[in-house]
Amino acid sequence: RNFQLVIRRLEAAITEKEALAVQLANANERLAKIASTDGLTGLSNHRTFQESLRRDLHRTSRTEESLSLIMCDVDHFKALNDTYGHPTGDLVLKKLAKTLQRSTRVGDVVARYGGEEFALILPNTALPGAKHLAERLRARVEQLHITVDRKRIEVTMSFGVATTCGPEAGKAGRSLIANADRALYQAKRGGRNRVSTPEDLSSKKR
Ligand code: GH3
Ligand code: MG
Ligand code: MG
Repeated sequence: RNFQLVIRRLEAAITEKEALAVQLANANERLAKIASTDGLTGLSNHRTFQESLRRDLHRTSRTEESLSLIMCDVDHFKALNDTYGHPTGDLVLKKLAKTLQRSTRVGDVVARYGGEEFALILPNTALPGAKHLAERLRARVEQLHITVDRKRIEVTMSFGVATTCGPEAGKAGRSLIANADRALYQAKRGGRNRVSTPEDLSSKKR
């Protein structure tokens, strides 16, 4: 009888160990998700964006494909916060994140770069395709129906697009971000609610 008792205890211990292993795996998964995503919007966070960009650029450098980056920023967001309050500003950021996420395809990375600025990594996408997507995003944001106290809030965003390709892509991370940033700045200067590319910058200089 003693022997049977020991066996039963052993079985119980094994069952408990298995249950704990499952709990641990679930907890690790939750932690990984928390560490990689932005708490407000659920998009990739800045760190995940940098990791994804490095990975996708390396992949691009081994192919003939292009990789494009879209940087975008909410127009006059400070005024929106000042007028409606930060909780409403947060709500707007969530809606914008959802709009960006829904408009992209599998393999694209949509990230909250910081504050009211978002970044989209588009593998296998050359400049015309990236511009086209940015223009679609711009139009969707402009058409969003966001209402607070039955009043419609108008939100627009500005977009900067940049592209890289070929063997140099692996090292192009910084310059790609800088180029998209410059284009975004150009879009802001040009009047906001618009899409700019490095091409627009060089044609201005000429
Ligand atoms: P511009 O068109 O030039 O981009 O003007 P802007 O007002 O959007 O730019 P500015 O950089 O002056 O202001 C950004 C604002 O975004 C200020 C900051 O309080 C707000 N912001 C950043 N992160 C959050 C957030 O998580 N929630 C809310 N509600 N506001 C945020
Ligand atoms: Mg802004
Ligand atoms: Mg900003």
